[in-house]
Parts: sequence; C-alpha cells; structure tokens
Amino acid sequence: MHDKPVALVTGANQGIGFQIVKDLTSKGFTTLLGSRHLERGEAAAQEIGPGAVALQLDVTDQASITAAAQRIRQEFGRLDVLIQNAAISTTTGHISSPQAFVMANRPSVAPIDEVRAVWNTNVFGVLAVYQAMLPILRDTPNARIVNVSSGAGSLTLVSDPNSPLRPGFDVTYAASKAAMNALTVAMAIELEAEGIRVNAVTPGYTKTKLNGFDGTETLEEGAAEAVRVALLGADGPTGTFTSATMGSLPW
Ligand code: NAP
Repeated sequence: MHDKPVALVTGANQGIGFQIVKDLTSKGFTTLLGSRHLERGEAAAQEIGPGAVALQLDVTDQASITAAAQRIRQEFGRLDVLIQNAAISTTTGHISSPQAFVMANRPSVAPIDEVRAVWNTNVFGVLAVYQAMLPILRDTPNARIVNVSSGAGSLTLVSDPNSPLRPGFDVTYAASKAAMNALTVAMAIELEAEGIRVNAVTPGYTKTKLNGFDGTETLEEGAAEAVRVALLGADGPTGTFTSATMGSLPW
C-alpha cells in the first residue's frame, strides 16, 4: 500500500480542481489529477510537481472510470479522499454571458439533448465514479468524499423570492447541481454506518472557464472549502453542504 494518503480529484486539469490538487499535494497527499485528456492532465501534474499524478478519467465513459479504479487499486492500494469536481455548464465549451445562458436554459426552451449531456457529466458521472471508487474507499480507514456542488443548486435558496440565485435557476446546469445535492444526501445516508463521510461544498463564483471567466473569486478561494472539508478528521461531519464564505447552506 502507498505510504502517503491518496486523493483523487476529478476534472482537475484546469480551474478549481487543478487548485485543489495543488493544495492537497502541498499538504502531503499523493493527488491523482483526473483529466479526460491524459496529455492535459500530464501537463497540469507536471506544473504542480512531485506528488501530483495524472490519471485519465472521463466521468462519462464507464471504461475509463473502471480503468482508473483498477489503476488506483493496483498502484496505490488506497483512496483516502475522493473529490467529485468535474462538471460542465454547456457542451459548447463557451458561455457568452451568464444572462444569455440562463435565458437559453429555461425549462421551456432548454435543448433536451444539451440538458442530457450536462446531466450525464454532472449527475450520472458523479454516481458512476462513486460506484467504481467505493470498494477502494471502503478498504481505506477514514475515507471521505467531497462533492463540488453550487449554491445555485440549493432548492431552498432558489425558492426564496428574495434570493439573488433565484433568477438563475436553469434546468441545465443549476438543476444538475440540485440533483448532485440529492446524490450527496443519498450517499451520506448509505455510508453513515460505515463512517465514510460524504459532504457537498460550493466554491463560490470563481473565475473559470465554466462561467466564461466571469467569476469574482480566485482559484485559491474557490478551492478552499473543498480542501478544508477533505482534510477534516474521522470525527468530521457527514451530509453537510458548506461554503467558505457563507458557512452552512440549506439543501
Ligand atoms: P472548469 O474550469 O471548466 O473545470 C471543469 C473541469 O471538469 C475541467 O478540467 C474539465 O476538463 C473537467 N471535465 C468536464 N467534463 C469532464 C468529463 N466528462 N470527465 C472528466 N472531467 C471533465 O470549471 P470549474 O469552475 O473549475 O468547476 C469545478 C467545479 O466547481 C464544478 O463542479 C462546478 O460545477 C463547480 N462550481 C464552480 C463555480 C464557479 O463559479 N466556477 C461555482 C459553483 C460551483 P476539460 O479541461 O477537458 O474540459
């Protein structure tokens, strides 16, 4: 078995995931930098340096997920932390403006194929990676899972007529994060008796490709809550949804 704690971060070749890998590696983890394109992952891991290891992982490709789990089992024999970070807001890879995005993704007009593709990554991908990695997490003492969600997926917040998040509750991206929150609760319930903690975090509005670099937080700020929750000890909570700036969020 590998002698350092091992973390896997999905979708980590850029953005918040990249920063999470950087931070966990600096805390002594061997951090597996998940990337759907191996060469992008290798370049990102090289930028971070020793301790960051590129891992080909496309969360929409079952063969890729299975191969990644096999590699982790064989090469490291442990998985202390799983951070489910990979997500997309659109399949076009480009957002002209947040306002235009919300208008195009209202329930009445959102293209169903686009909604399916985004949910395939943000929801079904999360469940598929969970199922593949769970046997290794179960064999690792004090294992935990952090799902990188969004305040935009809080049904309680968007149901508040005064919430600034309410007008942006689209069915493609924001609703996929509400579904991810539901998965988080289900996973936390399933694993409660085994002591594997499952929590969701929101990075805050962070300057990344996901929002056309419109965000206001830095990558360091965006990664902070996922890293904090990943580092909580065996007596840490499960089934929580938190933010670095807002504390506990309602589901
Ligand atoms: P980002 O810069 O666009 O990064 C997303 C990452 O996910 C990229 O590395 C991307 O890979 C990867 N990815 C996409 N599809 C994938 C797939 N099928 N398999 C594996 N990896 C895949 O976005 P980000 O802002 O850092 O987002 C990170 C997380 O934070 C997401 O869960 C997002 O929902 C959440 N979040 C972000 C904000 C924000 O303001 N940025 C706010 C709330 C929540 P490629 O490079 O190959 O595309």
